[in-house]
Amino acid sequence: MIPVQISTVFTFIIFVSVLFVSFLWLKMIWRQKMQDWSLSKEKMIVCDSCNFAFIVKNDENISRCPVCNHICIMRRKRRKF
Ligand SMILES: [Zn+2]
Repeated sequence: MIPVQISTVFTFIIFVSVLFVSFLWLKMIWRQKMQDWSLSKEKMIVCDSCNFAFIVKNDENISRCPVCNHICIMRRKRRKF
């Protein structure tokens, strides 16, 4: 058996606990960013078949209409200079 001091064991337990809590904290921040909703006209899609307007997430270009279940494609507007 390897001789280990009790202070070394407590230091290791505290270190692992801090790492675990940090991991959970970063995971929570990442999850909040992925589920973050923000209102803007660029993220709004108007359904072609029922004209229902709804908001999509940041990284989605294709979505289904929540009313008629029609597939809607987000069209990027060109900037006018
Ligand atoms: Zn629709």
